[in-house]
Amino acid sequence: MSTSLRNHRIRLAARPHGEPVAEDFTHDVVEVPAPGPGEVLLRTRYLSLDPYVRGRMNDARSYAAPMEIGDVMVGGTVSEVVESAAEGFSPGDTVLSYGGWQEFSVEPAERLRRLDPSAAPVTTALGVLGMPGFTAYAGLLAIGKPQPGETVAVAAATGPVGSAVGQIARIHGARAVGIAGGEAKVARMEELGFDTALDHRAPDLTGRLAAAAPDGIDVYFENVGGAVWDAVLPQLNEFARVPVCGLAAHYNATSLPEGPDRSGQLLGAVLSRSLTLRGFIQREFVPTMFEGFLRDMTGWLASGRVQHTEDITEGLQRAPEAFVGMLRGRNLGKAIVQVS
Ligand code: NDP
Repeated sequence: MSTSLRNHRIRLAARPHGEPVAEDFTHDVVEVPAPGPGEVLLRTRYLSLDPYVRGRMNDARSYAAPMEIGDVMVGGTVSEVVESAAEGFSPGDTVLSYGGWQEFSVEPAERLRRLDPSAAPVTTALGVLGMPGFTAYAGLLAIGKPQPGETVAVAAATGPVGSAVGQIARIHGARAVGIAGGEAKVARMEELGFDTALDHRAPDLTGRLAAAAPDGIDVYFENVGGAVWDAVLPQLNEFARVPVCGLAAHYNATSLPEGPDRSGQLLGAVLSRSLTLRGFIQREFVPTMFEGFLRDMTGWLASGRVQHTEDITEGLQRAPEAFVGMLRGRNLGKAIVQVS
């Protein structure tokens, strides 16, 4: 059965070669089905744009299955219940869901988390109080284990993950060195309270980083890889911890970079300085840490110890350009599309 509603959707048209282009996306309009037993019909209000979606556009094995050509682009959403065939949900409820790049979605009730719009702005469920904020919290505290007086460095430091990493590091008594692209982002890192803010696009990042961390780096929260990692590696102290969270500098790569094989140099540093490099996917820590995260982060937001920024684009049709812009670093804060 279908409803009288029309659903605008953005689907994967082709697998990108490098940076996604307009032709990799296609837009269509279809009828909206009625929810079946246990399901809920949702209208998307806000769509989260996240770097991992770039990986899902490739036909490559990863921690999550790739999208198929023709699939609706995946993404977390804040949505409003339009019609419910599930116990516990009523029209008008606001939920965190995984509706993807479309105006309406039908989802099983067990995949939804109810949001309280009076407790916090609902968009925070996609950022500082949601998956990205939790990624920062879990990766930093469970793997990075910052100690008072230590130095924590993080790149993509104005994004939802990196900005939370720096602020949580400071709450735990560490010095925070933030790295991001461009002057506006340097100014934002300073507002967020980073002890030092560095622009990775300006010359001699290695020299500036060495000056910013004269006692070396104890925790490097890896969000980007690439040239930032090259600058960080020589500064890592003995027993430094590196939570490997993301590699944004490589997501559009089509081949390995040219140059000598530096794996020996990397492994030599790991060996001689007793480094810990530990990759993680945030969901590993959900059962043990999510409750504590929500409690801590809600308190830090209320007291002003953590600040957050959102970068909101209006209109579903602009999601592809906003997504590519986010991968390039054009977003200042959590990238979100206001759909309705
Ligand atoms: P952001 O909003 O921070 O967006 C990604 C940022 O990466 C860009 O804004 C840009 O910022 C930076 N970037 C892109 N290319 C480069 C480059 N060549 N060199 C340096 N920086 C670059 O994203 P999120 O906060 O949502 O995510 C941050 C990282 O965390 C990503 O790698 C993401 O994949 C990862 N992640 C991992 C999870 C996990 O479970 N492991 C869960 C969630 C996110 P700038 O302008 O500052 O360069």
